[in-house]
Amino acid sequence: MSEQQEQFALPIATDSVDNYVGGEWVTPSGGESQPVVDPATNEELTTVPFSTEDAVDEAVRTADEAFKSWRQTPVTKRIQPLFDLKTELEDRIDEIAVALSHEHGKTVEEARGEVRRGIENVEVACGMPNMFREGSGNVEDVAPEMDEYAVRQPLGVFTAITPFNFPAMIPLWFLPYAVATGNTFVLKPSEKVPLSSQLIFEAVDAAGFPDGVVNLVNGGADTVNTLLEHPDVAGVSFVGSSPIAKHVYETAAQNGKRVQAQGGAKNYAVVTENAEVEASVPNIIGSVYGNAGQRCLANDVVVGVGDAYDPLREQLIEAAEDLTVGAGVDEETDVGPLITADSRNRVLDLIDNALDEGAELVLDGRDFDHPDAELDGHFLGPTLLEGVTTDMEIAQEEIFGPVLCLASADDLDEAIEMVNSTKYGNASSLYTESGSEARQYKYEVDAGNIGINVGVCAPMGFFHFGGRKESFFGDLHAQGEDAVNFYTEKTIQIERWYS
Ligand code: NAD
Repeated sequence: MSEQQEQFALPIATDSVDNYVGGEWVTPSGGESQPVVDPATNEELTTVPFSTEDAVDEAVRTADEAFKSWRQTPVTKRIQPLFDLKTELEDRIDEIAVALSHEHGKTVEEARGEVRRGIENVEVACGMPNMFREGSGNVEDVAPEMDEYAVRQPLGVFTAITPFNFPAMIPLWFLPYAVATGNTFVLKPSEKVPLSSQLIFEAVDAAGFPDGVVNLVNGGADTVNTLLEHPDVAGVSFVGSSPIAKHVYETAAQNGKRVQAQGGAKNYAVVTENAEVEASVPNIIGSVYGNAGQRCLANDVVVGVGDAYDPLREQLIEAAEDLTVGAGVDEETDVGPLITADSRNRVLDLIDNALDEGAELVLDGRDFDHPDAELDGHFLGPTLLEGVTTDMEIAQEEIFGPVLCLASADDLDEAIEMVNSTKYGNASSLYTESGSEARQYKYEVDAGNIGINVGVCAPMGFFHFGGRKESFFGDLHAQGEDAVNFYTEKTIQIERWYS
């Protein structure tokens, strides 16, 4: 084993991942299971059990029981285990990042960054005493000797159902806020990447939450549907593809639950004649090909406006050609594998359809074959198409792979029309040095997140995060003040005293 292989060996050895319920690790029994595969090598890392209805019921009841005393615990005390969770996670950053890189395929550096972004949410939630106070409403003298005020109260058991592409960060968009506001919590991570959650829950275990406040159930669609219908689940946070987000939103709402469901995306970047093209290109390349394009904020269509097109095209090709494809645990790697063979085939179909519809291949990563025979995973080399127009499937559907689509527009008005042509509204970026172009873009583009001269990354924990149109189903988004409102109900209290 080389020094690097040793440094980045899988830090967790287990035949099967466990659930974490009531402060104990539990091996779920009776259900089906599925292998968890390293997407770079096709090597089986572990198996993931699909928790049965009984196992889900046990976790939810345990969380519901714990809610009785957790809701009575003052907010200043509830945040204490979060301070410890921050430290426990920080002590494990490298370990989590390496496990994440093995099960997901992203580079260890990207994985480290992801864990840090997750920890940031724990830090923000540590300020819950102040966040809790804001917006609660102060005592009001509403009539002679009569006061009226609003008091925030938690609601019960919340669940979060998360996708494969950020297995450390996305659970932490929810867990810290749910418990700091006085609720109890059940996480159902993606069955494709369950190892990161095992390590995060080792940190949870060490952080000293009372038993039952934070729980973990592994599983797939049936596990999710049991949670959505469980009478003791008060609310659901979901992140994943739009069709499943819509299903979760509808099913949870029909079952009387609070729900926020973040879906898929189609993010355009626009580069105008007023842009600093040379300075912008590395940033655009990072947004398109980072995480092998498997990001809900990835810009996968880049529109060059007028004379900006030719220099942009030339520099993007040059930069994309320079990217190194390989395993995430190889420090030379820029672009890791796709998560599954099915995901890779889906992207290949999108490319083939684009070619049938008239796009042209400038860089073709379809036949990429890694020289290291052990790396026979789901790789796709950086691919670049040009001549992409908005009537093509590839210009409308999320790609979720290392593919850049180049398109052109005569002016900014036309480019904005292209950006708004999709059913999604997660993010979009404009590259320009013109303030008036930037202002027009910010007001006319229908997306929840706008970047000016920067590809959008997940907002800091004290801001809300969510898209528009079919990128989001619900009202209150994740993180920040929206999270406090999502996880609490304000009770109006009116009172007078006679003696
Ligand atoms: P996915 O929708 O396949 O899975 C997400 C979760 O839903 C998983 O936990 C999975 O077990 C569960 N699930 C899958 N099928 C189900 C079904 N039929 N019924 C009930 N539950 C089901 O998504 P994915 O492939 O893991 O993640 C990629 C998608 O997530 C992309 O579309 C990406 O844009 C999106 N995403 C969005 C955001 C955002 O903030 N908007 C962030 C990250 C990822």
